[in-house]
Amino acid sequence: MTKVAIIRCEKNETRCPLTNCFNCMIETKEGFKKYSECIPAGIFTCRCPGENSVELAKILKAKGSDVIHFCTCAFSQKTESGWQIENGGFCDKLDEIIDRIHIETGLPCVKGTAHLPKSYELKVWE
Ligand code: SF4
Ligand code: SF4
Repeated sequence: MTKVAIIRCEKNETRCPLTNCFNCMIETKEGFKKYSECIPAGIFTCRCPGENSVELAKILKAKGSDVIHFCTCAFSQKTESGWQIENGGFCDKLDEIIDRIHIETGLPCVKGTAHLPKSYELKVWE
């Protein structure tokens, strides 16, 4: 059973309650497909300019998270033809934030949760 934490972007916190993130986690598909079973370890919200994210990640680690996933909407957008990565998402420095979190916590990090864009290959820090 993999204990999965999620860090979301504040720019979407009042519009999406992570419905598809949770569905994909429970069904182990999209960003969670390599796990045989998942259990949520916790959710936190990153706040611009992202300086709080390392501290949040350390708390998620202390609570037993095995891995931290970052929401797909932070780096891709919904369009008429589905989710696309070309024009980015809510955050233009997500990779930088994930690099820092990975170095500071030592936890594996995964860029993506639900509805991964078709052209996107899941990026993993491990
Ligand atoms: S990735 Fe999708 S389901 Fe998850 S928070 Fe963003 S918009 Fe909602
Ligand atoms: S730093 Fe990026 S992920 Fe964090 S709240 Fe701002 S836009 Fe969202």
